[in-house]
Amino acid sequence: MYVEMKNINKTFNNFQASNMVSFGIEEGTLAALLGPSGSGKTTILRMLAGLDYPDSGEIYINGTLVNKLPASKRGIGFVFQNYALFRYMTVYDNIAFGLETQLKKQKKSRKERKEILDARVDELLKLTSLEGLEKRYPGQLSGGQKQRVAFARALAPNPQILLLDEPFAAIDAKVRKELRTWLKEMISRVGITSIFVTHDQDEAMEVSDQIIITNHGRVEQIGTPEEIKTKPATDFVKDFIS
Ligand code: ADP
Ligand code: MG
Repeated sequence: MYVEMKNINKTFNNFQASNMVSFGIEEGTLAALLGPSGSGKTTILRMLAGLDYPDSGEIYINGTLVNKLPASKRGIGFVFQNYALFRYMTVYDNIAFGLETQLKKQKKSRKERKEILDARVDELLKLTSLEGLEKRYPGQLSGGQKQRVAFARALAPNPQILLLDEPFAAIDAKVRKELRTWLKEMISRVGITSIFVTHDQDEAMEVSDQIIITNHGRVEQIGTPEEIKTKPATDFVKDFIS
């Protein structure tokens, strides 16, 4: 398994947000964490990313226990639902941000950094069909364009895993459908192991290779969209996906 969570428990002031959560995801797959609001999806992503820590249980990435590894060392890219772009930075600077931080840590000279950043940003602008928009500010972009910038920014440092928390939530219904298809294509082209959170069953069914259904901090079922649809394991799953 490329990403694995084993018996993860997490409580917030007596509230159990994760209750013995276990699942595994194979390399290169696109998995969805699907469940109602408050079922613990974001908590799972944050613990995987190292933005929060479990009370007990183990998290493995590519076979290595990462429980104590800080977020910056986990090789994870994160896309948030509200884009979280830097408003006073251009598209270019937004995309370059994480990679530039990495290059500074590696003590690369300004000239070397500029060469690497120009090439990588150019590649990502093409990948996300944002060519020509690199000098714009987030306020001058549509919702779909902003989300593509967020996606490019997360990919820039070449993460091993991409996590997306309700990436389409702030986008209107029509564009959301287009963006879904786009995201699926993009992720398969890049070949990166990805986990995305959604409370929308159609979105999960359409986009993912594997679905992990959460309810009250527990995993209710893990399976392909087909398995979830034809063989719901619990009454909750049956109700939720119908
Ligand atoms: P989801 O993403 O599925 O909507 P979350 O993982 O955000 O669910 O939250 C699960 C539960 O844990 C919610 O009831 C939420 O209020 C609670 N929770 C999440 N983060 C915190 C926190 N930092 N402090 C207190 N409670 C939290
Ligand atoms: Mg959430």
